Amino acid sequence: MKNKRYGGNSRQKRLRRRKRQRLLRQLPVYIIGLLIIGILAGGAFRLSGYVLRIMEKNAGQEQTLPENGGDSETPPDGSLPDESLPEESQEPEPGVPETLSAVDTLLNEASLAAAGYDYDKAIDLLQSSPFAGTDQQVADAIANYESIRTTLQPADYHTITHVFFHSLIMDESKAFDGDADEAGYNQVMTTKDEFLKILDSMYEKGYVLVRLHDIALMTEREDGTMHMTPQQILLPEGKKACVMSQDDVCYYPYMTGDGFATRMIIGEDGKPTCEMVMDDGSVSVGAYDLVPLLEEFIQEHPDFSYKGARAVIAFTGYEGILGYRTSSSYSDSPTYEQDRQAAAAVAQCLRDNGWELASHSWGHRDMGTISYENFKTDCDKWENEVASLIGDTDIILFPFGADISDWHPYNHENERFNYLKSLGFDYFCNVDSNQYWVQLGTDYIRQGRRNLDGYRMWKDIEAGSDTGSRKLDDLFHAEDVFSPNRPTPVEWS
Ligand SMILES: [Zn+2]
Repeated sequence: MKNKRYGGNSRQKRLRRRKRQRLLRQLPVYIIGLLIIGILAGGAFRLSGYVLRIMEKNAGQEQTLPENGGDSETPPDGSLPDESLPEESQEPEPGVPETLSAVDTLLNEASLAAAGYDYDKAIDLLQSSPFAGTDQQVADAIANYESIRTTLQPADYHTITHVFFHSLIMDESKAFDGDADEAGYNQVMTTKDEFLKILDSMYEKGYVLVRLHDIALMTEREDGTMHMTPQQILLPEGKKACVMSQDDVCYYPYMTGDGFATRMIIGEDGKPTCEMVMDDGSVSVGAYDLVPLLEEFIQEHPDFSYKGARAVIAFTGYEGILGYRTSSSYSDSPTYEQDRQAAAAVAQCLRDNGWELASHSWGHRDMGTISYENFKTDCDKWENEVASLIGDTDIILFPFGADISDWHPYNHENERFNYLKSLGFDYFCNVDSNQYWVQLGTDYIRQGRRNLDGYRMWKDIEAGSDTGSRKLDDLFHAEDVFSPNRPTPVEWS
């Protein structure tokens, strides 16, 4: 299932981008050329449809055109789009393979959709192209995807596991340096290397990321009532749906200097990435936390993501979100307004790239045991300070693994449940180290999440060959992942 056509090679990307820009510049000329050829070939309808689709697709990229974008160059020879475009005279790059033909570009696009299990989209792309019925490769690809589609199995939502992390430790020597925060990091956090090993292992075991919203959705019935309704997730045999989340994506001030990213930003490629302050005080941009690391992993392994799914990103509001000081307690800061705007933009970027956003309460409170008055105040602060900034979210990941009731199904005698529902929350997650714990109610879904942190890994290592006490073996082997730089034993405090 590995997609060989997308290497993530930056030179190829540059080439593709250049080709796109060239195509845009020459588009008017090409359209005329294409239309003439199309009419001559008697295929005018199909071809003009294709051109329209190209135009629609490129419409959103118009602002990236260079100043001289409208300048016409040498008219094309009227060749069909499946032939290579003329090379630009400047900047020759020796040794670079021929640019992709239109058929290859189309096949790539379909292949990427299929790698993400969207066989419907892949088939539709191919069937609606002008090459359907004329190109053997396209016909073969359609037949291949249609045949795979008949073998897909629906995932059983009861058995969808959910794993979670905190901010990843980038520099272990700074996190495990013996200061007052070391024990906390050692218990509830995961290092970059551990995370990457976990991803490799889960990928090899056939796990595929899905969104909480892929599992079930609130839908309206004929009588007008809203019900949480399971959705069909279709995967090839051997693939297993899973959800991933990350808590406290706030880059709290207390973490400064302890080897973590400092905030999330929008990268040059339009995807979310991170900043980290280096030893010399300079700011470096790169994959310094889960979000950009997972983006890179999925770039390399598109079949780790179901239809573009990413993880759930949860934050509290009392210090700010995503490394920006957005809390009203910073309203005197000269950068307060800038921080709020930047945080809102990054949150939107996350959403646009398949990430789901969640509340982790405003003040990192135990939402089950604090007084109802404090519970309500906390919920209202979330609404006023965070939801007002980034838009509503319908997911809450409770801090401390707490919950607002015991394991029995939620009901409407529970005033905390009612209050959260009234604010638009439909997805509720606690912490549970069992392989899976999913509860579907008439108007909510509830899921247990598994902490993949230093404490949990150490417990598996302590359990040794007592397989009954080991909790992670379905995901990875703790001994192969646990960092040798961690202080041991890892104790709960
Ligand atoms: Zn937390």
